[in-house]
Amino acid sequence: MNGTSRRGFLRTVGAAAAAPSITPPASEASQGEKARPRRTSFSPGSQIRKISENLFLLEDTCNVYLIRDGNRGLIVDFGSGKILDYLQGLGITRVDWILHTHHHRDQCQGDYRAVERSIPIVVPAHERHLFADAENFWRNRRVFHLYYVRNDFNTITENIPVASVLHDYGTFRWDQRAIFVLPTPGHTLGSVSLLMDVDGKKTAFTGDLLHSPGKIVNLWDTQINYGGAEGIDLAAYSLARLREQKPALICPSHGNPLPDPDKGIEQTIDRLVEYYRFQTGNNPSLSFRGYAVSPHLIAHALTTSSFYVILSRGGKAMFIDYGSASGLHFGNFERATATTDRIRFVEHNIDDLKTRFGMQSVDVAMPSHMHDDHLNGFPHLIRHHNAQIWCYENMVDVLENPRGYNLGCILGEPIKVSRSFRHGERFRWEEYEFEVSHSPGHTEYQMALFATIDGARVAFSGDAFFQISDSAGILRHNLIFRNHVESDSHIKSIRNLIDHEPNLMAPGHGRPFLVNREDLLATEQKMRRQDQWFRDLVADPDVNFGLDPSWCSIYPYQMLVKPGSTTRAEMRVQNYRHAPMKIEIGLIAPGEWRLEPDVLRFDVPAGAKTRQVFTIRIPSDWVARSPRFAVAADVVCDGKYLGQITEAVVEVQ
Ligand SMILES: [Zn+2]
Ligand SMILES: [Zn+2]
Ligand SMILES: [Zn+2]
Repeated sequence: MNGTSRRGFLRTVGAAAAAPSITPPASEASQGEKARPRRTSFSPGSQIRKISENLFLLEDTCNVYLIRDGNRGLIVDFGSGKILDYLQGLGITRVDWILHTHHHRDQCQGDYRAVERSIPIVVPAHERHLFADAENFWRNRRVFHLYYVRNDFNTITENIPVASVLHDYGTFRWDQRAIFVLPTPGHTLGSVSLLMDVDGKKTAFTGDLLHSPGKIVNLWDTQINYGGAEGIDLAAYSLARLREQKPALICPSHGNPLPDPDKGIEQTIDRLVEYYRFQTGNNPSLSFRGYAVSPHLIAHALTTSSFYVILSRGGKAMFIDYGSASGLHFGNFERATATTDRIRFVEHNIDDLKTRFGMQSVDVAMPSHMHDDHLNGFPHLIRHHNAQIWCYENMVDVLENPRGYNLGCILGEPIKVSRSFRHGERFRWEEYEFEVSHSPGHTEYQMALFATIDGARVAFSGDAFFQISDSAGILRHNLIFRNHVESDSHIKSIRNLIDHEPNLMAPGHGRPFLVNREDLLATEQKMRRQDQWFRDLVADPDVNFGLDPSWCSIYPYQMLVKPGSTTRAEMRVQNYRHAPMKIEIGLIAPGEWRLEPDVLRFDVPAGAKTRQVFTIRIPSDWVARSPRFAVAADVVCDGKYLGQITEAVVEVQ
């Protein structure tokens, strides 16, 4: 430390800028009223520049762009808010919106001035929490043991009211004008680029995706994990997608507008890709391509989970799974996702499938199982490619009501299912015959799908079993108890494969591989040994009570409640015993809630699953102690008091 005080530091810096002054601290603010934060009166030294008839640039803490439409204006990023001083001179009497490309402070530190003037602020959907809930971010951001070095530290210090959000691939309307929102992660994970027509030119406002041809504003913003170069990979990918949009002008947040975008983008991609290879030795996500296993079966093994495309003679496609563009995309978006948000998705491979393999349309997509890494592209396929979702019957409710369950890896966005299939059901799609079977183990909510494609008997088997890794000829498997696994789940799945005699396995991760009966039988022996291990280890003779953490559960697991309304919920009990169980359950919840019935008493037959409905009435004047909290269920089973063995999360609307 050099002993310079903050006030002294500001004075020193200010001496070089124009006549600084510092607002005194608002310590006299009355009790209950939120204290006004201390502000500086620093201001950019630059003057507003005219780029074209109705496009203006003020170089502030970031570039602030003003688009004029008659006497009204729209502003892209806001800097210190100094832009407001120029409106009158430009004949603008009203600013309709401020749109932000990303959450960094230099983009939005003057937003309080917009709030004072009631100008609505619109932010990227996946960074909403870093504006609207910034103070909560600061309550929770880990600083000690810092390995997650992502520069979300450049988040605003006070909450900014958010009027609306910019959805990826959506269109934001400014009267007659359409502003296309392209996801362009790289500089931040939630960054967007905004494309719109300005003075007859397709103009892209790209935030800090690139600074100038071949340059980015800094490197630290591109590092997310310790030693990583994630933002470089993501930025190269985003720039390739931006290039496909063919903008005529790029307006970056730092640096000068680029009048020759195509060349500038190409130069930047090339340099980022070379740098990424130099630092990591890996190929960038941008280079990942699918390949033809046979003429009508395309596989992609480098996406976060493998995905498969079955092509009909007419060019229609059935997708089996469709997750993120790469493991890097998935892993980083997953970690950055706000508690109540869903993971970000950027489109991949669709154009490639059309140009290289003659795909005309995505007709149907089926999940091998309900995990987010296998289906987080499904909402995009429905919304932007008109695809239908078909699945095995026990996945329907997990997909349509994702708040219902506390299972591993659920996508936090409901997915509408158009058709479902029972265990053993056969169906036809285009010129192919399929058979669906239940394939538990990795998760209870998984299918195996059998079909003959180009003469091969293929099993799409999700994450049930993976390629042999040792000389014993045993397929790899895994165990995740939160996914709902029972002691004989894997045995059922491997038996099912043995009975269907596939010769090609198409797994959820890795490339398709050939299998034979000996390998499957050897794997079955291992699964039987696993079952014995469970019995040796678990104290309860009905071993599934030691494997399934949700044998007693509250449905929905994530309850949405509203003061003044009645909420319906269920207690669900899976009896793994060979004898009936007598259950008594009461909810440990806020005292003002009225439960009907107060205590649930019911019998669960041997080996059965039973549900009992109850309702919660919440008084209209009830105030929640926090926006999200937990309730628990207190349980007596066959006269034995087990206590609060299960719970649910409550979100207040
Ligand atoms: Zn930035
Ligand atoms: Zn997986
Ligand atoms: Zn999985």
